[in-house]
Amino acid sequence: MATKTTKRKARIAKALTKARKGKAARKKPPKAQAKADQKALHGDTPPWSKAEVEEAFRRFQAAMPEPKGELHHINPFTLVVAVVLSAQATDAGVNKATPALFKLADTPEKMAALGEARVRDLIKTIGLFRMKAKNVVALSEKLIAEHGSQVPNTREALQELPGVGRKTANVVLNMAFGQPTMAVDTHIFRIGNRTGLAPGKDPLAVELKLLEVIPEKYMLHAHHWLILHGRYTCLARKPLCEKCIIADICKWPGKSVANSE
Ligand code: SF4
Repeated sequence: MATKTTKRKARIAKALTKARKGKAARKKPPKAQAKADQKALHGDTPPWSKAEVEEAFRRFQAAMPEPKGELHHINPFTLVVAVVLSAQATDAGVNKATPALFKLADTPEKMAALGEARVRDLIKTIGLFRMKAKNVVALSEKLIAEHGSQVPNTREALQELPGVGRKTANVVLNMAFGQPTMAVDTHIFRIGNRTGLAPGKDPLAVELKLLEVIPEKYMLHAHHWLILHGRYTCLARKPLCEKCIIADICKWPGKSVANSE
């Protein structure tokens, strides 16, 4: 009995020393974190229970009941344009260029009349601006010719517009038409795999898994909660696990916060 008590005391003392030195919440070295991300991509992160998914989204909702996208736009048309421009660019970078563009052209007719050369000049600070200017003018012309200058509200019709892929269509359906879609960008792809919430080898696999696991009542805003979480907390290189509101639920082996017992 005495030996058992001594051993227990020794274990507690060791744990206390570790905690006092901060080892319990010490950041894992970048190499270990990168390795953990690689493992996660191979589907090695444990899955979440239904209750854990519910609790995580309950917290996201409590922290931010009405999350908003950060791309500046005035109407569904300028939203489509802004999302097309945001491919492989930051929202902040796009937001610097679009006020001048949308001041001159906030409808398909005005954009088509502006012409490719002028649009190119107005968006030249954004990556891939040549191809994007071409697409923006071409999609404006297609909206005029085939949709009465209105942005269509179906995935099929949206994806037929030049420069509009599945992700862009999902953003537009969600933000302009209130449909519970999930646009998987680099942040959501990372979070889905890293945390174990929705592992998948490509964005479509992660999208479908998220649609499967997220309770319907959270779907409308889930896209924004996850993007904002990835942009400001679960950062690619240095995730801020210490400030994370779902740290105790997250399954990433590289996280720097211990699970609560
Ligand atoms: S604890 Fe939070 S910030 Fe850290 S990896 Fe998990 S979800 Fe990302």
